[in-house]
Amino acid sequence: MNPPSDTPPDQPRGPVLSDVSFESLGLSRTMTAVLKRRGYTAPTPIQKDVIPLALEGHDIVGQAKTGSGKTASFAIPILEMLERSADLPQALILAPTRELVQQIVVETEKLAIGQNVKIRGLYGGEPIVRQLRSLERGVDVVVGTPGRVMDLLERRALDFSDVYHVVLDEADRMLDIGFRDDIERILRRVPEPHQTMLLSATLSEEILFLSRKYMHHPIELNLSQDELSVESIKQYYITVDHDRKIELLMHLLEKEQPRQCIIFTRTKRGAEKLGQRISRKLSGVGLMHGDMAQPARNRVMQGFREGKVKILVATDVVGRGIDVEGISHVFNYDIPEDPENYVHRIGRTGRMGRDGVTFLFVCPDEGDPLTNIEMLTGKPIESYKPEGFQAYQKRSPDNREYQEVYRIGF
Ligand code: AMP
Repeated sequence: MNPPSDTPPDQPRGPVLSDVSFESLGLSRTMTAVLKRRGYTAPTPIQKDVIPLALEGHDIVGQAKTGSGKTASFAIPILEMLERSADLPQALILAPTRELVQQIVVETEKLAIGQNVKIRGLYGGEPIVRQLRSLERGVDVVVGTPGRVMDLLERRALDFSDVYHVVLDEADRMLDIGFRDDIERILRRVPEPHQTMLLSATLSEEILFLSRKYMHHPIELNLSQDELSVESIKQYYITVDHDRKIELLMHLLEKEQPRQCIIFTRTKRGAEKLGQRISRKLSGVGLMHGDMAQPARNRVMQGFREGKVKILVATDVVGRGIDVEGISHVFNYDIPEDPENYVHRIGRTGRMGRDGVTFLFVCPDEGDPLTNIEMLTGKPIESYKPEGFQAYQKRSPDNREYQEVYRIGF
């Protein structure tokens, strides 16, 4: 097998774009000018499908992952439809994590350049007083995690009387982390009529139940072209003994020389330990997990976006949804417990159709989780034998059985 760095790219580089223009989607001149300035030459497939339907006022349930241009697919039509004279929020976007909220705010602000639109991110970790004050000054678009939005609603700091557009982004993840009750309570506070767009990487029964309960004849879109971003990722797994994982990681970092990478661990403690060990040998190492204070997380994210942080050690909660173009490699240092997290982790690379390489470390007793991942993705992951590195001691199962039988017989 060829080592990954020698593998010629077999997928087109560059964004996955469709053959239609933004102009043909019925956008205003201001918006098309902003898009041109941002370098968005044409809509991505999800934007081509979602924007016209959203502009017509339909409710939409879309299966889509980050990296496909999904933020702009809902932000563009919302910005186009905002009433200019209002004081109260007209759009509410819910997302599962602070990082995602911040990412949506940044992307929406860039699309709103030249328009007088106030967008505010609301999440835990930032002093609530600051958020209360900014809400008092008036806001058009609220982007928040369900927990903090509910908290602010209960304090009567948020008034949803004018909300018309509701977006549930990464809905499956929000349900996974237990936001279901908050989401339902929030949705019940939004007056009728309103428009809802629900985007989710997977459309489980629970998601469909939610959409049936709170949406009006939603149009279901399976935006599967999005899979292309995963197709451009080279996926490998490596069998490794538990006590050789760190050496294997250092070996691969040296050999692969990633432009930027994320290393995923299962626990916060594991991320901390690993981050410390790597930074003894390498510079440009950052750490992100859910127990870190928000300012510290912001600093790391900023450094990662600017390319100062080259190696980011992270847990699933914060790793998911990170959209940084330079990520060439993803290392699954610990195999994810939930196979769906594997798809989210590797999706941090191969953004917008670019190439990416991912390694999954599998210990000899982790065959089952590996199979579960392959069953979910529907394709076998290629095994990779690192050249000049002994990742595990060979123990043949037959041998073990023979020894045991032999011992019993004695
Ligand atoms: P998302 O799926 O929303 O996380 O977006 C992934 C990345 O694609 C972001 O960095 C966007 O700024 C970028 N992007 C979104 N739409 C387009 C487009 N039509 N052309 C080029 N880049 C885009």
